Amino acid sequence: MNKVAFVTVASLLTQRKIQLQSAGDSQQIYYKLKSREEHLADALQNEYDVIIVGGGATGAGVSLACANRGLKSIVLESQDYASGASSKSTKLVHGGVRYMQQVFQLSEKNRIEKWGLVAESLRERSNFLSMCSYLTQDFPTLIPCNNLFDLGYYYFGSLIYHCVYLYYQTGGHTFKPPRIVGKEEIQSHFKFAKCNYGVIYYDGQFNDARMVQELLVTSSLKGQNMANYVEVKGLLKNEQNKITGVQAFDKIGQKQFQIKGKCVVNATGGWADNLRLMDDPTASKRIVSVAGSHLTMPQKYGSRHWGYLIPKTSDGRVLYMVPWQGNMIMGTTERKLESPTHDPTVSHEEYMWLLKSFCDEFTVDASEAARDVKSKWCGVRPLVYSSNALSTKEVSRTHEIEVSKSGLISVMGGKWTIFRLMGEQTVDKIQQLIGSNQKRIENLPKLVGDWTQFDHRKEIQIMMKMFDLPQSYAAYFLTTYGDRAYDVLKLVYEKPENKESLHPQFPHTVGEILYQIRYEQARKPEDILFRRTRLGFLDQNAIFTVYEKVFQIMAKELKWSDKFQQQFLKENFEYIRKLEF
Ligand SMILES: Cc1cc2nc3c(=O)[nH]c(=O)nc-3n(C[C@H](O)[C@H](O)[C@H](O)COP(=O)(O)OP(=O)(O)OC[C@H]3O[C@@H](n4cnc5c(N)ncnc54)[C@H](O)[C@@H]3O)c2cc1C
Repeated sequence: MNKVAFVTVASLLTQRKIQLQSAGDSQQIYYKLKSREEHLADALQNEYDVIIVGGGATGAGVSLACANRGLKSIVLESQDYASGASSKSTKLVHGGVRYMQQVFQLSEKNRIEKWGLVAESLRERSNFLSMCSYLTQDFPTLIPCNNLFDLGYYYFGSLIYHCVYLYYQTGGHTFKPPRIVGKEEIQSHFKFAKCNYGVIYYDGQFNDARMVQELLVTSSLKGQNMANYVEVKGLLKNEQNKITGVQAFDKIGQKQFQIKGKCVVNATGGWADNLRLMDDPTASKRIVSVAGSHLTMPQKYGSRHWGYLIPKTSDGRVLYMVPWQGNMIMGTTERKLESPTHDPTVSHEEYMWLLKSFCDEFTVDASEAARDVKSKWCGVRPLVYSSNALSTKEVSRTHEIEVSKSGLISVMGGKWTIFRLMGEQTVDKIQQLIGSNQKRIENLPKLVGDWTQFDHRKEIQIMMKMFDLPQSYAAYFLTTYGDRAYDVLKLVYEKPENKESLHPQFPHTVGEILYQIRYEQARKPEDILFRRTRLGFLDQNAIFTVYEKVFQIMAKELKWSDKFQQQFLKENFEYIRKLEF
């Protein structure tokens, strides 16, 4: 595209943003976001109400809840945002049909706890989808049935699930009731399915790592601070043994510093015991780390719109197959770990079990399916331990908020679906601790880029026409960034070289990567490859095609010296090698 055309596109972008702004309640034409360095400079000057340790779903949820109650907070994340469990989930916003089933099992001991878990998750499911419509969607899930008994059982089970949702719903997104489907309809979605009928029920789905990003961007625009690659190494205490701040280490700038705060929230997921023990070396451990693995398969094995739930695999677990970003993801397993790790690998047993369960369910050639696997990944669930649980399946899935004598607030367990509730309940505890009674500013704060008049389906059509973009590209930008898509495109169209594509099968361009470095704190190639974009989860081979290009863009933008580049590659060699598939 020549220079004149670029100028025209830039003015079209601004024109559209002005139209959007005057049509509704958009905050500003282009969002002014701080860089990582600006956030860190703030951290050195400010004294915070709340220091949040951990930048996953829980930490990001607490940050937004703080903003909504007029508290000043900072999130400190030792690696990249969402690099723990929060980018490696099954991407379901769900009430947990599995727990619903357990409520009615005669052998179930914790019936009331399970019921409460389903009820709160179903309520939060609606809140989640209405907070951020562009990153989420509701989707039908098929439970295959092989006889009429199963059909009746799963239909009435799904109906109760729906009725519980209707009973506890307090507004927000609405979900359709379950229905029975026959072979023809099933085959039109899953051509390899063996079952003759099944039950369709509805749940929600989202893009997990991007959700953390959108939560943090929203908090940042509401005055909160955040920095990744800052590890909390110690807690500062006064003479009364009350926490007054943290000792932190900036891994990028290689600097040690202190941050002062009225209270510290431990939102470190699987690592929560480390901070609890830092606070009180006599504390007993509460976290069980349970690894869960997924495989990514091409869409031809699944449906574009329907999920598929195997309610009972060979070892009695449930297995989900979920359409996601043009592919199908399949998971998950459960494997207890001795201690949490950032990048647990998928074990050979898990890989084989996932493939076998898939091949048992569908008429597919096992060796072809194995060849077609596009990616595999594993995450660590932070479950809260209760001593009488016999297996990981029995460990509680509820969350717990513990306040220590010195004032450390540890938020443990839970799941992605209820991040908002966990954030709100944590802020209740914070307010008790620091003596604040500020009410919520908004009942249900919407995320940046998702304002009331923004209809992303209509916007896709407008964007396609206005900027001559293919539908899939326009859809990608709008379902990833909401109305921030225009801010990203502004950078893409700023210079001809920014429009250069990274990979022919994906919509990512140099300009988008620059946006992620400048405004979303991406500092290592894997931040871009796995969490800002989701390439690593979708197609691990694509990473080898784009790694060098991403590295070069980062080296130029972040002004890495030759020495630093060599050192970086040396240190990251192991990580890159692990990606080989
Ligand atoms: C396989 C799998 C599938 C799942 N599927 C679903 C699903 O479909 N739906 C759903 O609702 N939930 C799901 N979950 C659960 C959900 O993903 C987790 O409950 C949630 O992501 C936990 O978020 P978190 O912020 O507590 O933990 P994490 O995301 O692990 O974040 C903790 C962060 O703390 C950081 N940290 C640790 N120590 C320090 C320190 N000293 N200083 C600074 N930072 C530190 C870590 O680097 C990490 O990034 C799934 C989980 C797994 C593992």
